[in-house]
Amino acid sequence: MPSTTSDSWSSNSIEAGIDHNWKDNINSNFIDYAHVNNSVRIIISKVIQGIRITVDEGVTLHDECDLPTLAYLANMLKVARYENNIFFNRNLHVNQTNVCVLACKFCAFREGPKSDDAYSLSIEQYLERIEPYSKHITEVHTVGGLHNEWTIEYYLSLFESTKNRFPDIQIKALTAVEIKHIAKQSNLEIKDVLIQLRDSGLDSIPGGGAEILDDDVRDYICKGKESSDEYLEIHKIAHELGIPSNCTMLFGTIETTKQRISHLDKLRLLQDETNGFQCFVPYPFLPDKTRLPDAQLATANEILRTVAISRIMLDNIPHIKSYRMNLGDKISALALLHGADDIDGTVSHEEIMHKAGSTTPLDQIDNDLAILIEQMGGIPVERNTDYTKFRKFRRQSPPDNKGLPVAYG
Ligand code: SF4
Repeated sequence: MPSTTSDSWSSNSIEAGIDHNWKDNINSNFIDYAHVNNSVRIIISKVIQGIRITVDEGVTLHDECDLPTLAYLANMLKVARYENNIFFNRNLHVNQTNVCVLACKFCAFREGPKSDDAYSLSIEQYLERIEPYSKHITEVHTVGGLHNEWTIEYYLSLFESTKNRFPDIQIKALTAVEIKHIAKQSNLEIKDVLIQLRDSGLDSIPGGGAEILDDDVRDYICKGKESSDEYLEIHKIAHELGIPSNCTMLFGTIETTKQRISHLDKLRLLQDETNGFQCFVPYPFLPDKTRLPDAQLATANEILRTVAISRIMLDNIPHIKSYRMNLGDKISALALLHGADDIDGTVSHEEIMHKAGSTTPLDQIDNDLAILIEQMGGIPVERNTDYTKFRKFRRQSPPDNKGLPVAYG
């Protein structure tokens, strides 16, 4: 993070605001070894020296380290990079269609093309969704189903129209499987699709659909989706074309700890090659109304443990997001003390998570988010989509002490 005397600063999209010297800033003075075994103690000594840990060490840390120590380690690594800054942006989620030719077992969002609940936004309807928020937001986040009729023409028109009408809004859109589907529908190579989408206005890729990068798990929970290698390859091509992306992990279905940690390892290995991932977003499977009754589900302890282990394993991916649309305000606030430095912004029109049971209130204003961040000891910093511009956020009004997400003081 470049030093600054003002409340605003900038970065490039590869560094994404990180302090180059973060390893020198690690302060391990307060680690309490009283509750850890010798194996964990050895792994912790690597972490505090900024040395990468292996998959097996990650599994040991995940399974055998007590949560407060794990939280301390992850928070220590976050503070070394960003001090107490917590980042957010003002974005709007608009899902362009829920029509999908696949039927992933965990998905509560998709509808078949003939369903009464199916919808497909026209370009004008999509723009109308943005219009009321256009002066407020800096990003539109758009993902949806694999439409049975649309080709690349729809998306080129969608992005060009959005840029024409809202030139200051950045477009973060399309998961890897959507990109694969557009290529198939349009008889194009992935690279050609990405070039055309980029040139029509696509700024970055949100990273959804990684689920667990293990093909046995994928065959069970999302048969027919892109393979693990295809997910990584599509992001690699995007990075090579100068399109930054996020990456994700859906956990708490049927995967083992080892499969989770291996997932993180695959992401960091690609990041070693491309440096194109900006943020990692872990989120647990939400059970309501979906078709995966054998999912193990994740407890609050396990969610926070997963956020923490993600920060520790992903030594080369700058940001770890607390995805409040999925975690809810209380757990997402706690995640800020377990290694997350970024929290999803002021989101509206989020349909996918809410169909799956998420109860986080929509339309939460910036002020409330800033209060939530401050309550966890953080400093709210507004950023743009690709983490190149930062500005400390000044709250307009004090907390009203009603409906605070966590006890404080
Ligand atoms: S997760 Fe995505 S690809 Fe799978 S069914 Fe849902 S909308 Fe379709």
